Amino acid sequence: MSDQAVLHVKGRILVGPDDVRDELWVLGGRISYDRPFGTQDIRTVEGWALPGLVDAHCHVGLGPHGPVDAATAEKQALTDREAGTLLIRDAGSPSDTRWVDDRDDLPKIIRAGRHIARTRRYIRNFAHEIEPADLVAYVAQEARRGDGWVKLVGDWIDRDLGDLAPSWPRDAVEAAIAEAHRLGARVTAHCFAESSLQDLVEAGIDCIEHATGLTEDLIPLFASRGVAIVPTLVNIATFPQLAAGGDTKFPCWSAHMRRLHERRYDTVRSAYDAGIPVYVGTDAGGTLAHGLVAGEVAELVTVGIPPLDALAATSWAARAWLGRPGLEEGAPADLVVYESDPRADVRVLASPRRVVLNGQVVE
Ligand SMILES: [Zn+2]
Repeated sequence: MSDQAVLHVKGRILVGPDDVRDELWVLGGRISYDRPFGTQDIRTVEGWALPGLVDAHCHVGLGPHGPVDAATAEKQALTDREAGTLLIRDAGSPSDTRWVDDRDDLPKIIRAGRHIARTRRYIRNFAHEIEPADLVAYVAQEARRGDGWVKLVGDWIDRDLGDLAPSWPRDAVEAAIAEAHRLGARVTAHCFAESSLQDLVEAGIDCIEHATGLTEDLIPLFASRGVAIVPTLVNIATFPQLAAGGDTKFPCWSAHMRRLHERRYDTVRSAYDAGIPVYVGTDAGGTLAHGLVAGEVAELVTVGIPPLDALAATSWAARAWLGRPGLEEGAPADLVVYESDPRADVRVLASPRRVVLNGQVVE
């Protein structure tokens, strides 16, 4: 786009849940609400505009067997872009994707470094696999490598026990979370089961991924501490399949996974009703496909979350939580335009009319 070219977005600009405007302008890649002077070359896009969607649990540079090459990582990021995801919180990647930051045509990524798991207690080749004595040092290392987040694997199957079990003793997570906070990073953890949650929350964790084990007795603790959850329901949908694979060797684990799956909607609904912040995350990368953000928003509506709040969980509220701007004056023009009102029916998110990233219309 030349310096003189201007983009005009008109229709309904959903600046916030209660702030709807008729038009915005894009100059030099940034948003303006003042019509520019002069007779510039103007391109118009019309429809319902939302801030670029947020996928708060996504993995770029990660495939089913571990790290992937840059060409594959680029394809993952482009697939997310097509779906309207323009801001990713990367929830752990063994690849160095820092090169993405130099690309104006790829979604913005907030990294959590590489997953930190207990030895042989996670998917092979994904995580640093370590023992509790080294947790503080690894958390410090990943806090420095990331963009303000660190990702722990909080629980996983313990093969001797034959069931999900916490990865870390309480004193280790207390020290690790304190160290991350001292370095200015927030901490999140993968947790499927109930048993790791109280220690992590009391140790000061900022967010829990999946959170399928969030029971009624733990909900007030999360709510009072303001600990967010990213349920990744499109991933939880695969639990019955995972459970079937474990029936002969780990029947307790399989039964546990099925119970967590069966109550998943009640779990997320109770969390939402208690005021726990809930954000959209797909868990793309690893085994799940990229570009599923619309499906996750639809799942939150199925849970019983009102459509406006389900939208906020991937737009206004998610951006504020991650410290990134939405459609305010002067912000980078990252937005998605739809042909009908997403507040009336979130299913429109599945087919963006136009995606605009850094002021450029994606063709
Ligand atoms: Zn994940």
